[in-house]
Amino acid sequence: MTIDPTFAPLAELIPDPTDISEPFWKGLNDKTLRLQRCGKCDTHQHPPERFCYSCGSDSIEWATASGGGEVYSFIVVHQPYHAAFRDRIPYVVATVQLDEGPRMLGAIFDVDPNSISIGMRVQARIETVSEQQAALFFEAEVQ
Ligand SMILES: [Zn+2]
Repeated sequence: MTIDPTFAPLAELIPDPTDISEPFWKGLNDKTLRLQRCGKCDTHQHPPERFCYSCGSDSIEWATASGGGEVYSFIVVHQPYHAAFRDRIPYVVATVQLDEGPRMLGAIFDVDPNSISIGMRVQARIETVSEQQAALFFEAEVQ
């Protein structure tokens, strides 16, 4: 995997995958965003769980998501809460309403924070942060 050196400092923030979350993390390494989908009611969900949040079924499958969504809410971070983010402030952390339904938290870098708005279309941005792992961010959707 090619590691963008500007993303490498973020590697230490990546959690160790669990047996439940491992398909999500492996998906990122394949440059795809994967969500769980219920085999009974077809609802997508995140974070991963052993059962469906909607109907309780344990018929859980993994599906590739579009990566598209819209900004549901956001904040602009001006403080370097971790050294890995020091060179990125100010940056945006957004709750993204994915097109498949779940909401997901993610950072949006390399954008003027004043250009972000509720309802703005965004797209998953998957960056390799270490030899073992890629991570999920978001970026403004190209029109
Ligand atoms: Zn269900």
